[in-house]
Amino acid sequence: MNANDRSATFSCEFFPPRTEAGIEKLQLTQQKLDEIIRPEYYSITFGAGGTTRDSTLEIVKLLSAKNISIAPHISCIGSTKQQLKDLLEEYKSLGVTRLVTLRGDIPDNGESTKELSHANELVSFIRETTGDHFNIEVAAYPEYHPESKSPQSDFKYFKNKVAAGANGAITQYFYNIDAYFRFTDKCIKENIKIPVTPGIMPITNFTSLTRFSDACGAEIPRWIRKQLEAYADDKDSLQAFGIDVVSKLCEQLLEQGAPGLHFYTLNQADSTNAIWKNLST
Ligand code: FAD
Repeated sequence: MNANDRSATFSCEFFPPRTEAGIEKLQLTQQKLDEIIRPEYYSITFGAGGTTRDSTLEIVKLLSAKNISIAPHISCIGSTKQQLKDLLEEYKSLGVTRLVTLRGDIPDNGESTKELSHANELVSFIRETTGDHFNIEVAAYPEYHPESKSPQSDFKYFKNKVAAGANGAITQYFYNIDAYFRFTDKCIKENIKIPVTPGIMPITNFTSLTRFSDACGAEIPRWIRKQLEAYADDKDSLQAFGIDVVSKLCEQLLEQGAPGLHFYTLNQADSTNAIWKNLST
């Protein structure tokens, strides 16, 4: 399988911008990605604890109105069941048929509604309230979720999400390819048949990548970290190195059977498009 194989699913993720200028820029980014990748859908994140519920909806409305296929992220940790039900109805009325379904990051103030505590409960709730209307993607963690008590319990809870009705999974990003294939091998052994799409984080900025990776439990291998540190003051070399590393990762993933790629674009098109061009040649 390679980037020209349209039986694979390629998708790109955005976060809802906070300003009008950001929204303008996002639309340009979307156009640039569409020219090169033509992803099957764009997913739109949902801020910690539902903090971007309105801005996520705003971007979903904006892009859906242009007939762009959108998968909003939806999380349960900061929302009541009624809020979630209303949101699901709104998405249905906008023609949305795919969701990325999460517990969500715990907001800084630690607040939770306690109505739905884990993603499997949200998947069940969506199935109870909307039947099979939505294609549901859930999160998977080849390097384990940072709060998980053990690899075994993390996988057990992943299975709960599949049993609750998930159609597919998207992974946290990783740079250790073995972790991904170990995870998919385990799925095969446990008779889990849903596609597990690797989440791909382009490397563009050392400081933010390190901060984010520490928080979400994604390991940056030493050889990558050292090289990025060495390029700290040389943005062009850092980006070129990042594109090379991530292109090779994507190439190997597709060659070895990954069902597609989900790009965490951070609302930027250039690195993702450059990686794609490397995959297509
Ligand atoms: P869960 O599957 O509920 O797991 C959370 C933790 O609880 C894990 O450690 C798990 O092992 C454990 N667990 C699960 N069930 C139980 C149980 N019954 N009892 C005890 N422990 C349990 N965050 C956002 O806020 N907004 C987003 O838009 C967003 N998008 C994301 C997209 C992708 C593709 C990924 C991979 C992550 C995304 N995140 C997002 C981050 C995600 O919300 C966090 O990683 C969050 O901490 C866990 O969400 P989850 O859906 O994996 O939770």
